[in-house]
Amino acid sequence: MKTKIVSLNEDTIRFLLDGVNAAFANSLRRTMVAEVPIMTVDDIFYFDNSSIVPDEVLAHRIGLVPLKTNLDNYVLPEECDCEAELGCPKCRAVLTMDIEAKDDTMTVYSGDMVPEDPSIAPVSKRIPLAKLAPGQAIKFEAYAQLGQGKVHAKWSPVSMCVYQNVAFVDVEDEAATKKCLDTCGDDVAVLEGGMLKVIDIQDFERCSHCRELVSHEEIMSGLKQDEFLFTVESNGGLPPERIVKEAVKMLKQKLSVLGGKIEADELHDEISDFELPEIDEGKLYSVGSGDYDEAEEGDKE
Ligand SMILES: [Zn+2]
Repeated sequence: MKTKIVSLNEDTIRFLLDGVNAAFANSLRRTMVAEVPIMTVDDIFYFDNSSIVPDEVLAHRIGLVPLKTNLDNYVLPEECDCEAELGCPKCRAVLTMDIEAKDDTMTVYSGDMVPEDPSIAPVSKRIPLAKLAPGQAIKFEAYAQLGQGKVHAKWSPVSMCVYQNVAFVDVEDEAATKKCLDTCGDDVAVLEGGMLKVIDIQDFERCSHCRELVSHEEIMSGLKQDEFLFTVESNGGLPPERIVKEAVKMLKQKLSVLGGKIEADELHDEISDFELPEIDEGKLYSVGSGDYDEAEEGDKE
């Protein structure tokens, strides 16, 4: 397995993953989306909310505000030894707000939340939360905790996490191709071993010169089945490269647990046999209609 960073900036990383199948690429993607934890607000105590936004709507908005996450100083609440409902300083960070509109209408922004720990602050200060008319006020204490995207999407560290195949195609006119590559850049396509390696198919096809050199059909028939271009865009909570690193760490850990169970032959304890209920052909069941009702069957007989 080989990796190569194609581009990296403040919020997005693009990298190549070579030598794995689609199932592995997808498990890495799913780990990033649903397992890598970040901080978000999960409990709020209102002391005052006289704005027209109801408490629960405001709480929902606050929960969706991305917070900068310091993974090294905090643990997941379920892994903390405090076992307290609202957590302890090891598993939660407090943010407070105390704001009142005096003479004019005003907008309350995410930046008006004051973090107790400066490393757990809103990623953007300009997310509007509510509007206040003169005399109205919002005062609360909010508790942020680490969590995972599989529990609630607010805890997902990525706003986008996708992968696509790269393609290898034959080049007829190497000189013309080289000229095109110079303008498009080596994060779009490169010449490799006499072949053209199309790294980002969308970007490649956006260039009218490149499009003339290689047709869409040629690219589609040249897709490499074991090399992928990943694009991971962070919502700001964690640096994008950290999300990938954490996901790899978690995936490795999961695989070693699974490997250990296979070696110890313990897997069968966790797998229960699934038995398909007998289905009455004369009856239609809709998807998600719940358990097959045996009592009903009995009544009919
Ligand atoms: Zn704790």
